[in-house]
Amino acid sequence: MIAANDGIVVLNAGSSSIKFSLYSGAGLDLTFKGRIENLYSGPTRFSARDAAGASIGAEEWGEALDHAAAMRYLVDFAAGHLGGYRVLAAGHRIVHGGTHYSGPRRLDAEALAYLDTLVPLAPLHLPHNLAAVRAVAQLAPHLPQVGCFDTAFHSVQPALAQAFALPPAVTDLGVRRYGFHGLSYEYIASRLPQADPALARAKVVAAHLGNGASMCAMAGGRSVASTMGFTAVEGLPMGTRCGALDPGVVLYLIQELGMDVARVQEMLYQQSGLLGVSGISSDMRALEASGDPRARLAIDLLVYRIGRELGSLAASLGGLDALVFSGGIGENSVALRAAVCRDAAWLGVALDEAANAAPRGVARISRPDSRVAVWIVPADEELMIARHTLDLMERPA
Ligand code: ADP
Repeated sequence: MIAANDGIVVLNAGSSSIKFSLYSGAGLDLTFKGRIENLYSGPTRFSARDAAGASIGAEEWGEALDHAAAMRYLVDFAAGHLGGYRVLAAGHRIVHGGTHYSGPRRLDAEALAYLDTLVPLAPLHLPHNLAAVRAVAQLAPHLPQVGCFDTAFHSVQPALAQAFALPPAVTDLGVRRYGFHGLSYEYIASRLPQADPALARAKVVAAHLGNGASMCAMAGGRSVASTMGFTAVEGLPMGTRCGALDPGVVLYLIQELGMDVARVQEMLYQQSGLLGVSGISSDMRALEASGDPRARLAIDLLVYRIGRELGSLAASLGGLDALVFSGGIGENSVALRAAVCRDAAWLGVALDEAANAAPRGVARISRPDSRVAVWIVPADEELMIARHTLDLMERPA
């Protein structure tokens, strides 16, 4: 059993930032959280807050820090702020678990060796996740580490939902749809029945709309289909990623425009989506504040694609009982939720405009007579990771 002063550290190491948090006691209460951002590009900044939101640390470096230096700083910071807390384990968000890992697991040498083989499947994210694991192993060799995979929640999808119509020689190499944002959807699936017990068995489409954006169809809390696929560039347009694209476009970019692989990758991952279409920003707040028609077009395209995917995911479920918004855009953009719900009226979605305008926490924002319930569930992948990590630590070996 976890004692009141026992804690789980959660780490989410991305390409340019490391988010960290400490959860403590049997209730896994958030004790503090923070982030180091602008790694490599600089100026690298650090900030941390306690559970009440009060600042407990801030730092800015003139130069750019790398992952190793950032982790060293974090471990020192944690050592100074852990007070009476004893850290039981570190839980990591890991983007890919491949075909082997369909649930959380201890990150021992064997697991790291397997995850190294998956780097070609997620070259932009996985190396950063693993760098953080290795940094912790070096700085705190006796601390157990647990990996929680963004793909795991989707591993139960029907085979048809995971398949591409490609020859087996390619499919057998693991070229299939994996789906991502699984920890966010798993958290939503765990949270909905608390809000309304009827949702435990419901047909739900959840939209995680942040800088990365995807949607997931869930039946009875299990993933049935998702918009992200082999990689996290598939599906909805995102902050800077293009989302679904005719593969013929990629051939055209290479054959007719003479782009090499690196250039195509840069365009599809960093220069497309909201940023690419608007030419202004990848940030939804900036686009909503702009009067530029290109900003409007970028938003309209996102809303349109959400509507198309909603229809497709509802088909994968054979119906729809609830629609859920999550992620920075899903939780905060009143206008985007209203536009999506307007377009989804044909499915039986009727928004309560007043509830949509001022939601608090987990909130139902559809009218009582809406055939499809609409909810906001603030994303909390970190808590999901803390729960998994504690579960694994408490499980008999
Ligand atoms: P990440 O995927 O990096 O975790 P977030 O979930 O924090 O990202 O989402 C970031 C997105 O949320 C940005 O596009 C940002 O503009 C958007 N966002 C945050 N607050 C608001 C708001 N009040 N209104 C509209 N969009 C918002």
